Amino acid sequence: MANMEKFSSLRKITELKDKKSRKSDKLSDLKKKNSINANIKPIKKVTRFFRFKSLVYLLKQDKKLILWNFFLKRPFFHSFKLIKSYLKKAPYIQKEDLFFFNINSFNDLTKKAKDKNSIFVFGYSYCMKPKDCPSKRFTKDCIHDKDNEICQKCEIFHQISKIPANDILLIIPDAYYIGIKLAEIIEKNPKKEIIYIIITCNMCINMFSDLSNMLNIKGLSIELSGRVCRNYKSFLFAEKGIKSGITNLYNNTDEKILDILKIREDIFS
Ligand code: SF4
Repeated sequence: MANMEKFSSLRKITELKDKKSRKSDKLSDLKKKNSINANIKPIKKVTRFFRFKSLVYLLKQDKKLILWNFFLKRPFFHSFKLIKSYLKKAPYIQKEDLFFFNINSFNDLTKKAKDKNSIFVFGYSYCMKPKDCPSKRFTKDCIHDKDNEICQKCEIFHQISKIPANDILLIIPDAYYIGIKLAEIIEKNPKKEIIYIIITCNMCINMFSDLSNMLNIKGLSIELSGRVCRNYKSFLFAEKGIKSGITNLYNNTDEKILDILKIREDIFS
């Protein structure tokens, strides 16, 4: 009961923040095309302690033991992958707002996109949704309805509507959701190569990075700009759906994703 009251008061605070932030979101929308240098990075230095703390945080969410069961199917292999990841100074290759996992460059990703035996998973953080999203903001849903006025103006609609039926769309409500969905997709498709393109904040990319390496999966995480969480506290609020600001992609990154989607569309048409 105490938790419910706390949650309800947090919601009220968020609604107030929502009103205040609408104005600044409009300003942010105007500025976003030039925002690559203006963004405030939420994490200055990603330490191994932060990475370990992140893994503990994700495992604490694993009440249904989905990640544990995945891990225990090949405990030595997954332990090896996890330790190897922790021993690396950085668990990815970063090029500006792009973070490559087990691939070296965008060209490598393009080659993978041409492979019909692969499944691409396109993941979008819920904080990219507009506040009046017809599927509600803090949900895993997205109707991407071309006749809906809000969808027509939504920044991610033109990407989501191009995802081929062979590939998978994820709307991401929290960091744990990325882990369990990828683990499920890997298990359901043992003969396919799973590649992800996940758009999320710097904090979430770093929290998920070692788990991604444990899953032994190739992928690209794309860092969000705009009104991203600036510290761990605001990130934890966002994980519960308490987030007023809207996030967006940096310059040109939108075109990169559309290029991959075009390749996927062509090979399956
Ligand atoms: S396309 Fe955008 S506005 Fe429409 S349901 Fe999806 S997230 Fe919401």
